[in-house]
Amino acid sequence: MLLKISTTHTPTTDLSHLLHKHPEKLQAVELSNGKAHVFYPEATEARCTVALLLDIDPIGLVRNSGRNGDDSFSLGHYVNDRPYVASSFMSVAISKTFSTAMNGTCNKHPELVDRIMPFEVEISVLPAPKGGEILIRKLFEPLGYQVNLERHELDSKFTEWGMSKYFTLNISGNFKLKDLLSHLYVLIPALDNEKHYWVGQHEVEKLLEKGKGWLKDHPEKEQITKRYLKGIGGLTRNALSRLLEGDEMIEKEDSDEGQSDIVKETLHYKRLKVVLDELISSDAKTIVDLGCGEGKLLRMLLREKQFQKVLGVDVSFRELEKASDRLRVQEMAPKQKERIELMQGALTYRDKRLQGFDAAAIVEVIEHLDPNRLKAFERVVFEFAQPKTVVLTTPNREYNDLFENMEAGQMRHADHRFEWTRNEFESWANQVAERNGYKVLLRPIGDVVEKVGAPSQMAVFNLITNE
Ligand code: SAH
Repeated sequence: MLLKISTTHTPTTDLSHLLHKHPEKLQAVELSNGKAHVFYPEATEARCTVALLLDIDPIGLVRNSGRNGDDSFSLGHYVNDRPYVASSFMSVAISKTFSTAMNGTCNKHPELVDRIMPFEVEISVLPAPKGGEILIRKLFEPLGYQVNLERHELDSKFTEWGMSKYFTLNISGNFKLKDLLSHLYVLIPALDNEKHYWVGQHEVEKLLEKGKGWLKDHPEKEQITKRYLKGIGGLTRNALSRLLEGDEMIEKEDSDEGQSDIVKETLHYKRLKVVLDELISSDAKTIVDLGCGEGKLLRMLLREKQFQKVLGVDVSFRELEKASDRLRVQEMAPKQKERIELMQGALTYRDKRLQGFDAAAIVEVIEHLDPNRLKAFERVVFEFAQPKTVVLTTPNREYNDLFENMEAGQMRHADHRFEWTRNEFESWANQVAERNGYKVLLRPIGDVVEKVGAPSQMAVFNLITNE
């Protein structure tokens, strides 16, 4: 496994000063599962390249992992991609061989530490999980790298086998060396599904230390954190809340909901925020939240003075109880209590109590209805309740391809009866608007990814009036 870092910064000897590695010497560092060799394949006046060659011992790997028992003879333990790919071992090697540079120390030339230089990095083989190229780009590009990727065939002799999950990655940009090394240290294992390390609180500290100054503002911080920490919910929440200190994304109440998926949680927060903004700009004063669940949106609505009356409706009594607890309805001052009401009801039965509201929010609810009940739902909401504005969201099925651990055709929630593509949603929304005298606008929620769109989608309906 080979990592090459090149610069055209002059004098090119600056790179070797920063790395504390002499261009004419070949050096080797012992690692627990192999050796790291450092050498300079080129060191001219115009360009300097340092190479880190990782020589992993696959047999030692098995011995050191302490595996035994029934599967200890499994061939996969001995014949695998570990020796050839950039993985968490590469991070260990980077931090061992270039520790002074990573820590930003350079006794001889301290002024070089903060110097921004043009760099080009080549990782000969990088495994990427589901989402492959898109994921790699999402991790590196926001940091300012130009990304070039070459994906490899499984076997060039058998082209019909198709493509592998392995890429050669070339990234370039202008950075301080210490930042570049920290990016690699965190992002390489974040891309590797088979991290060798034991993940505990120690890894949270390492991640925060190496991510200092850049991870907090990275648009994929949740995904990076979660992947780096092997998806362990408690550690991920801990790292993210420290990273985002003061950021409302991780609501306190959510931290004791067990192993709930932090990525979905933050997407949900984003979604609720978009819905809230839409309701605020609709000028509505009274809102009904249909299928309010445990009342996350209700709580956000109550914080806005603009909303004088908020009604939460759900078919589940249990959810309404949770909402009541979350909102602390019992402890509310009388004036505040007057603004909120919770009520059990089904969205597929006509109900007078739903009439007369300026706006309705219907967030991630329709996909819980049987498709043959959609028509009834449409009549209840758009024909009888008839709020001036309806803000409705539902998942975008096309995006599911990017979620790891999701099988093809699987839905995001066991209770979902369907999940729509962007076209399916748009066509339904247009028909509903047409039939009921509304106009409708569709918007993506979350980052839009080429070909598949954003994770969630929203339709904003406005009743056409004659005014
Ligand atoms: N809007 C909330 C909850 C979404 S989960 C949020 O975004 O956080 C879907 C909710 O719809 C659940 O609380 C479920 O009880 C409710 N629901 C499902 N079918 C319903 C129906 N026919 N009538 C009313 N609520 C329903």
